[in-house]
Amino acid sequence: MSDWNTRTKLVHGGTRRSQYNEVSEAIFLTQGFVYDTAEQAEARFIEAGPDEFIYARYGNPTVAMFEERIALLEGAEDAFATASGMAAVNGALCSMLKAGDHVVSARALFGSCLYILEEILTRFGVEVTFVDGTDLDAWRAAVRPGTKAVFFESMSNPTLEVIDVAGVAGIAHSVGARVVVDNVFSTPVFSNAIAQGADAVIYSATKHIDGQGRTLGGVILGTKEFIRKTVEPYMKHTGGSMSPFNAWVMLKGLETIDLRVRAQAASALALAEALQGHAALERVIYPGLKDHAQNALVQRQLGGKGGTVLSLDIRGGQAAAFRFLNTLKVAVISNNLGDAKSIATHPATTTHQRLSDDMKDELGITPGLVRFSVGLEDAEDLIADVQQALAASQG
Ligand SMILES: *Cc1c(COP(=O)(O)O)cnc(C)c1O
Repeated sequence: MSDWNTRTKLVHGGTRRSQYNEVSEAIFLTQGFVYDTAEQAEARFIEAGPDEFIYARYGNPTVAMFEERIALLEGAEDAFATASGMAAVNGALCSMLKAGDHVVSARALFGSCLYILEEILTRFGVEVTFVDGTDLDAWRAAVRPGTKAVFFESMSNPTLEVIDVAGVAGIAHSVGARVVVDNVFSTPVFSNAIAQGADAVIYSATKHIDGQGRTLGGVILGTKEFIRKTVEPYMKHTGGSMSPFNAWVMLKGLETIDLRVRAQAASALALAEALQGHAALERVIYPGLKDHAQNALVQRQLGGKGGTVLSLDIRGGQAAAFRFLNTLKVAVISNNLGDAKSIATHPATTTHQRLSDDMKDELGITPGLVRFSVGLEDAEDLIADVQQALAASQG
């Protein structure tokens, strides 16, 4: 399967068929598994084979299909599926860290990721240093021989700065630290983070992998050794495993992810290009635009693809941003992303509300900033919708 091309992997990868030889993947909605004999139960608890299951918190056939399919897509040796993206972030970090360890993290993080690094890890005696993730000199200055892990979102939310995976990995590996990348905004379609040096890659499957706004899920990808020896014991005993039903939704999502994400990214680029220089905008931020500050890195790291999200800094601050949101007719106001439906968010008052004004300034989360996740609607309709809402935003 590993020499198939991407779309073939996404449709057939990891498939396990029951005695009925069903075409579509079965949902094994079962907590447990029956053993033929007591001896067989004993043997399975000593060591379960690849297609032998014990309890759904440890593993399940539908979940295993999802894990194998996403690992094939990412080019990772193995994967562990989790109940949500946050269960994946927590699992990847907590499974490998202990009191006295040092972690270096990018400062621009999704709110819940920041909570894990700033509140939870430090409460258990892990020291965390935050840096500007785009500044390789800052990473160089922050790592030291006791640094166990570095963590960052490869494309930051909501200002869409791109972090150099290979550059940070080189610095981290020079002191023996593991590189943990939250890759949601880069998407598994455009990213090659493992090939670029990441040791563990995390997705919120809630976003593009489901892609249709239904279920929560997450996944941790890495070497077989890391996933089975470090991540699995932590996850199976602490209870953050993915439900078999959700794994089935995610499996079906993977079948179409390449088509969906490429279509969404093409519309995002068309929208960003149509809006450049618009009188109602301070700026359009989209990593796929030639004028994005890190376009050279976007070319190298993401094959020039800017992802499915753009951010619009609307003239007139919060009042104008709210008028814009309240006038949209196609896109909806919500805080998710990667969905088939276009979704607009005002980060300063929702996803990033908890941050101090100074921190918002430092991260570029201005009062006029709107994050726009581009869906699968017709691009012309989206451009017209955003243009009419921008006209209304100016009062
Ligand atoms: C959404 C998101 C998460 C958390 O995922 P959930 O599935 O909501 O738990 C983590 N990191 C990033 C970058 C996200 O966008």
